[in-house]
Amino acid sequence: MSRWYVFSGDALLLDADGRPPRSASTPVPPAAGHQVMVLPEHDGDEAYALCAADGEPVPDGMAYVSLRESFYQLPRPVYAMAAKARELLWWDAHSRYCGICGAPMAMHSAISKRCTACGHEVWPTVQTAIIVAVTRDDDSLLMVQSRNFKRDYMGLVAGFVETGETLEECVRREVMEETGLSIRDITYFGSQAWPYPCGLMVGFKARYAGGELVLQTSELRKGGWYRRDAMPPIPGKVSLARRLIDDFLADKS
Ligand SMILES: [Zn+2]
Repeated sequence: MSRWYVFSGDALLLDADGRPPRSASTPVPPAAGHQVMVLPEHDGDEAYALCAADGEPVPDGMAYVSLRESFYQLPRPVYAMAAKARELLWWDAHSRYCGICGAPMAMHSAISKRCTACGHEVWPTVQTAIIVAVTRDDDSLLMVQSRNFKRDYMGLVAGFVETGETLEECVRREVMEETGLSIRDITYFGSQAWPYPCGLMVGFKARYAGGELVLQTSELRKGGWYRRDAMPPIPGKVSLARRLIDDFLADKS
């Protein structure tokens, strides 16, 4: 039997038990022009990722659930595999032609492609971003709302790592750009694959060092300092932002 991670856009197909379907053959045909990606075996099953064709009927008893929502339904290792599946499918769809010579790319291993003309080899894209919880001596946390947020909650300063930059330099730069504040005591907190569509979030904690809060209004809707006893709505548990915020809330020191 095989385990099938089937996506329709960003939504994952789950069977009547709320799991990716397990069957001898694919539960839906793959979309034309998309490859079936091989995933690592788990629980003794081979595993595959594929995109369903547009308009393909949902198999009886099954349903599509957004990948983000599936976090709250699936065991962590299954969500992690679904996230990897989505990232591989995104990479496949965005690496069809060689960036050097323009010829079609062909799968070379489960996680690499090689150009059919010049031999140029590529691997799945990972876009590294930092996220940082900045705290102040009055026991408050710096929170911001990105213009990208679809709902009215407050998150943390975050941004993509630039070429030639260390993670710590990126943390300092993003906090300065988004809020005008300087920080000190940057420490690593943890990291998380962020398959929306191909991110690696690297989380840090830092202390406020100086400056007046001036928000970068092109990227942020609002922002400010929040105390534990007066928190705004916060992101869902799927995100590293939430783990950092929960860590702040739990820290009674
Ligand atoms: Zn080429």
